[in-house]
Amino acid sequence: MTFLADAKDHGAKFMQDSFVDRVLIEKGKAVGVIGTQNGRKFTIRASKVVVSRSGLKNKNIGQHLHLHPVSYVFGEFDQRVDCYQGSIMTALTTVAENTDGNGYGSKIEVPSHHPGLNAVFVKWENAAAYKGAMLNLNHIVPLIVLSRDRDGGSVVNGADGLPRINYTVSKHDTLSLEEGIARSLSILVAAGAKKVWTCQRFIPEFTVSSDLGVEDPEFKKYLKAVVRESIKPGSATIGSAHQMGSCRMGNNPKTSAVKPTGETWEVKGLYVADASVFPTASGVNPMLTTYSIAHSIAQFIKKADNSSKL
Ligand SMILES: Cc1cc2nc3c(=O)[nH]c(=O)nc-3n(C[C@H](O)[C@H](O)[C@H](O)COP(=O)(O)OP(=O)(O)OC[C@H]3O[C@@H](n4cnc5c(N)ncnc54)[C@H](O)[C@@H]3O)c2cc1C
Repeated sequence: MTFLADAKDHGAKFMQDSFVDRVLIEKGKAVGVIGTQNGRKFTIRASKVVVSRSGLKNKNIGQHLHLHPVSYVFGEFDQRVDCYQGSIMTALTTVAENTDGNGYGSKIEVPSHHPGLNAVFVKWENAAAYKGAMLNLNHIVPLIVLSRDRDGGSVVNGADGLPRINYTVSKHDTLSLEEGIARSLSILVAAGAKKVWTCQRFIPEFTVSSDLGVEDPEFKKYLKAVVRESIKPGSATIGSAHQMGSCRMGNNPKTSAVKPTGETWEVKGLYVADASVFPTASGVNPMLTTYSIAHSIAQFIKKADNSSKL
């Protein structure tokens, strides 16, 4: 409705349901792509190519993948909240965004939380508890703890040629989630929740004392237990909606995959212009940064020498 419509008005053409299999490279220069559309192979020749997958060899390609690991904390309130209504992502706090003192921590955000999402993040105890949690959705306030991952993971090609992701939340990034989760619990208790809980499988929900609130010694003990239990593979639910990096931008081919202009170090005329060029995790929902980087790379592409046009 916005950017694609603008592109169409300026002469861009689109191919739906198409998968680019590989980039055509001749004499070190990208000259087009080979792909598949609805089972039929196609070839497009072009003077410049913008891609997300390319078959190049630079060792930084596939490395430094960042995913903003997200955990949820929930609070149950007496009044209806209807957390799936209204504008999305309208409130956030930065109280936990600098856990390590170097800009790495977690943003705490209030998401729009529809039943499908709730179904994923309700922790499993038994069928009756699960059903109760789903039926109670109208009274639940979810907070997301969105960590800015410093350490990241990688993407490799599987034997079938399709990508495989290797990612484990590091010890450093786990500390960011722990702080964000503890702070979120306190926020919900201070806001008047009558029960709070996390996505940690072995930590039960906590019933809030309406008189003592965050000062309740039992709540302080609960926070300690939550942090001690931490985020372990297999016992805490973690999500991700923000893929970044794996083709990071930089000024040295030894440490990056593309130049500051978005052009790959290895092949002339071959550009990457999406969230994969982020040098680090943004630490905030990345869509606007992705737009702005893509816009900036588009200006470099326009300015680049066109003399080699096919
Ligand atoms: C559930 C969800 C909620 C989100 N909410 C927010 C939010 O509230 N705010 C925010 O800022 N961000 C949000 N994001 C993140 C945001 O959507 C991404 O940061 C953004 O879309 C990244 O843009 P991109 O161009 O890098 O990648 P994409 O938008 O994923 O585009 C990549 C495109 O390349 C195509 N492609 C890949 N390989 C090939 C191939 N071989 N041949 C042909 N085509 C190919 C894919 O089909 C895709 O269309 C959310 C993401 C998710 C999943």
